Amino acid sequence: MRPELLNPLFAEVTSLKGVGPALAKPLERLKLSRVADVAFHLPTGWVDRLKRNELMEQDAGRVIAIPLTAVDYRVSAGRGPTRVRAADKHGNIVNLTYFGGSSGWVKKLFPLGETRLVSGKLETYGQELQIVHPDHVLPEAEADSLPEREAIYPLSEGLTSRRVGQLAAQAIERAPDLPEWIEPSLLSKHQWPAWKEALARIHADPADAKARERLAYDEVFANQLALLLVRGEARARKGRALTGDGRLRAKLDLPYKPTGAQSRTIGEIEGDMAQTQPMLRLLQGDVGSGKTLVALMALLIAVEGGAQGALLAPTEILARQHYATLQRQLAGTGVTVAALTGRDKGRVREGVLMGLADGSIDILVGTHAIFQEAVAYRDLGLVVVDEQHRFGVAQRMMLQAKAARPPHLLVMTATPIPRTLTLAQYGEMDVSRLDEMPPGREPIETVVMSEDKLDAVVDGLARHLSAGKQAYWVCPLVEESEKSDLAAAEARAEALRQRFGDKVALVHGRMKPLEKDAVMAEFAAARAGVLVATTVIEVGVDVPNATLIVIEAADRFGLAQLHQLRGRVGRGGGKSVCLLLRGNSLSETSRARLALMRESNDGFRIAEEDLRLRGGGELLGTRQSGEAVFRLATPEMLGELLPVANADARLLVDRDGGLEGPRGQAARVALYLFERDAGVGRLRSG
Ligand code: ADP
Ligand code: MG
Repeated sequence: MRPELLNPLFAEVTSLKGVGPALAKPLERLKLSRVADVAFHLPTGWVDRLKRNELMEQDAGRVIAIPLTAVDYRVSAGRGPTRVRAADKHGNIVNLTYFGGSSGWVKKLFPLGETRLVSGKLETYGQELQIVHPDHVLPEAEADSLPEREAIYPLSEGLTSRRVGQLAAQAIERAPDLPEWIEPSLLSKHQWPAWKEALARIHADPADAKARERLAYDEVFANQLALLLVRGEARARKGRALTGDGRLRAKLDLPYKPTGAQSRTIGEIEGDMAQTQPMLRLLQGDVGSGKTLVALMALLIAVEGGAQGALLAPTEILARQHYATLQRQLAGTGVTVAALTGRDKGRVREGVLMGLADGSIDILVGTHAIFQEAVAYRDLGLVVVDEQHRFGVAQRMMLQAKAARPPHLLVMTATPIPRTLTLAQYGEMDVSRLDEMPPGREPIETVVMSEDKLDAVVDGLARHLSAGKQAYWVCPLVEESEKSDLAAAEARAEALRQRFGDKVALVHGRMKPLEKDAVMAEFAAARAGVLVATTVIEVGVDVPNATLIVIEAADRFGLAQLHQLRGRVGRGGGKSVCLLLRGNSLSETSRARLALMRESNDGFRIAEEDLRLRGGGELLGTRQSGEAVFRLATPEMLGELLPVANADARLLVDRDGGLEGPRGQAARVALYLFERDAGVGRLRSG
């Protein structure tokens, strides 16, 4: 149960004064639904207000504060703006422009002939100066109440920074003093303020680095503590030791030798599975590094040990692909594999369920359907989760909680994640890396081209297709809207159809899964030559004959995403090419990022460099990283804060694993505050 102390913070945002239906919408768009969300909606910058006595054109574009006298009003007919013409003491004129308000209100705010201190952003409008919606119009006597520095917040339409600042002030007023969860020596070493003080300070002065750091630290600390607790909990439960004797693995007829990285990883997994503590292991390996073989070996260890194994894929089509691969590889071993997806109904499904229950099925491959209520295993010993960036801590825990004897867990991801972020997202897991590619792989050639050369690209595509090869064409990411993504993809598909007719297929995120699968199957069977896609091209889909990928507006993609998309090609059909089309006005950073793509095929290096290049400002949890992990800590801060938080959380858990002492109790508050409380309920003593 959440401590009562936190209730004021978890109250609906509509409980704040002045938040009615009109504000609720824009707040919702920013996902600010509770008081705490507003408190944690931190300013990203600030303006310094210039004190002036004279209007000057060279101040245009800046925020000024200046005494002005109202000279006359210009009220437009209908819904037009109301303007106050106001003069400085030299008689220079500025128009104060108000849209949408009643002129009566404006006249009351700034009566004719009176002098007020006016603040806002000065602009030139035609030959005149203007301030649109001044943010302050104060009696001169109140000049001192005008702060020199004002916070700027991330906004959505219908909100102003000033309004958000006022809401934040209310939120802080309601915020309780919280017990201190940070180790005292750490607190004094960094000179961090107490929680509530930090909150007040950052909203008052967005440049306050100590306050910002403290709040970010809290979030990272809560994250690390939660993961440690989850890990402790999972480890405390008794699973089943599975030792393979190698008899099934020996029967495999592999056309190649495992790479060193594969052998090492399989060894690590074998060691884990031989323990009664359930394995919690993350396998990171770039696209094409051979994760499937590792999964297969782990599954065989489970079967050799007398248990069953399950392989979970994120999509229907990937599940089918894995099923086909495993069936082929396991032919002649006597191991039974079955598939189960949402699409299987009736007798097929019944048959699989029976086989699982009586143990005649050794390995089950499928989508989430394999963990539905009705699915009962005789003895599930291992779960392998493939390509699951959509598979968060909560799901991982549920999986473990469901079984009477928790199965060993292997999570495989091809998304290159920098080390620091791995600790944040998968901190409860041990990590193996496949950092070596199978031999003989020809590196993908990456070329960056201006989008002005589109015609040449299409000519190249024509040559590629007439040589009997296939290609992907990925369309740009347009803002955050799926709708406009789709429009762009549809337009591109149409344009390509003018030239290539029905060789062009289109797949996008708004299609139903069945439709998507059908198009992918068309492409896999080479009935389509070009697959135009929004970013939904299924991760892991294997079409070796597709050796060209064109990515439009590549500069708008995250590097990890570009790298993943590029991994669709280079799957064994000879030389592959990735064409990155770029706009013409690129920032230095965009240039550097695309150059890095051209230069490197190493997902891990790309991830680390991308983190460095993007630097601060951009929070995690954007499209690139898949799931939002932090809202206060920037990637830049993580490098510093994560190791500290990890050590601090470890120390606390070592001393007080039940979080019973005063610091432990305070740490519980932090877990609830950041909604990382999944771990708390599971504390043995709590
Ligand atoms: P991913 O890590 O992307 O899932 P896969 O497991 O699909 O990679 O492997 C990619 C390709 O490499 C497959 O065609 C697979 O058969 C092949 N492969 C895997 N391991 C080796 C190896 N040790 N030597 C040669 N080829 C391999
Ligand atoms: Mg794979």
